[in-house]
Amino acid sequence: MKLSQSLSQTSKTVAHDADSVNAKLLTQAGFVKKEAAGVYSYLPFGRRVLAKIEETIREEMNAIGGQEVLMPALTPLENWKKTGRDDVPIAFKPTNKTVLGWSHEEIITPLAKQRIKSYRDLPFAAYQIQTKFRNEPRAKSGLMRGREFLMKDLYSFHANQADLAKYYDEVKAAYFRVFEKCGLESFLVKAGGGEFTENVSHEFQVLTEAGEDKILVCEKCKLAWNAELEIAKCEKCGDDLVEKKGSEVGNIFDLGAKYSDAFDLSFTSAEGKSEKVLMGCYGIGVSRLVATIAEVWHDEAGLLWPESVAPFQIHLISLGEDEEAEKIYRELSAKTEVLFDDRDCRAGEKFADADLIGIPLRVLVSKKTLEKGGVEIKKRNSEKVEIISTDKILQK
Ligand code: ATP
Ligand code: MG
Repeated sequence: MKLSQSLSQTSKTVAHDADSVNAKLLTQAGFVKKEAAGVYSYLPFGRRVLAKIEETIREEMNAIGGQEVLMPALTPLENWKKTGRDDVPIAFKPTNKTVLGWSHEEIITPLAKQRIKSYRDLPFAAYQIQTKFRNEPRAKSGLMRGREFLMKDLYSFHANQADLAKYYDEVKAAYFRVFEKCGLESFLVKAGGGEFTENVSHEFQVLTEAGEDKILVCEKCKLAWNAELEIAKCEKCGDDLVEKKGSEVGNIFDLGAKYSDAFDLSFTSAEGKSEKVLMGCYGIGVSRLVATIAEVWHDEAGLLWPESVAPFQIHLISLGEDEEAEKIYRELSAKTEVLFDDRDCRAGEKFADADLIGIPLRVLVSKKTLEKGGVEIKKRNSEKVEIISTDKILQK
């Protein structure tokens, strides 16, 4: 992508209403544009980061047998009446017969009912990556808490508790892999079920001052507890716990038969008896992940994307050597993702913007570097510069 032609543009000034580091950096670096409280457009850079995260999640969900579906955002109010969740304050209701989906148990359960007849049809799991709508009273902290946001929601269906528990653990492991691949260390925290269930639930928390949740952490065992629980020492090693702030990037629930009861989702067991299907639901805040990564991975100069989620791998800068740089751009673009700063502006501005945007590797082409035999490369997270021949860039 050529920066001179991109819809993503950096700005010299910070948006006056940016209330957090992620909001400030992501808008200033051209990743998102705020449209209203808790509502954002994703510009090309931001869309690419989302796509990377989505792909990581897809791989892991497919690996644990999740089938990808896409349910509607506009959902029938009558379904919500069946579960008694038709009147929750966060629900947007565009008409008196519709609700904008803020979760999808009310859609997936009747959908699964068409498919599940006997124990032979179980277990199965389906997920989607989709926009959710919640009229959050405190839409704030940039992408951390939106009124319109992207979520991955997985739902699983089981014949018995042991099978549900087994799958619940598989999802846990998959979630740790997702967050690790996104460059984040996550803590598993036992929590209450909230709107969803009275059974167990777990949150995945990433430590950051920008997080809204308070958690008690054992730094030695890498374990954490919800600060609402009455606990002062680590249940494993007995050490004192430290209070930290966390961003909840994922949440998993044992739903039991709550939704199967509401929609009469039953199956015929091997003994020929009718039994209720047990369900689990598992969410990941895809857009909250973008915000969390920005909060964890930045410095004074700007963003610092982990390679796995970076919008591009290489930030190519030309200083007056446009022809040579154009050639390098075409060669590199055939093999990897390159952002080419071909703008007609000062060197200092180009360097500052490269730091602000935060792509892992900067490649500079100038008269000086060409005289020294190639291009200058610099990693975003290091001060070291090195001259290498053009054909060696990809090895880096
Ligand atoms: P929270 O406790 O932060 O309000 P929640 O418990 O209501 O979240 P779930 O309904 O379980 O969240 O949603 C699954 C995931 O979606 C959450 O773990 C979080 O990462 C993300 N999420 C929830 N609400 C929002 C929001 N308003 N904006 C962005 N992401 C959100
Ligand atoms: Mg929660």
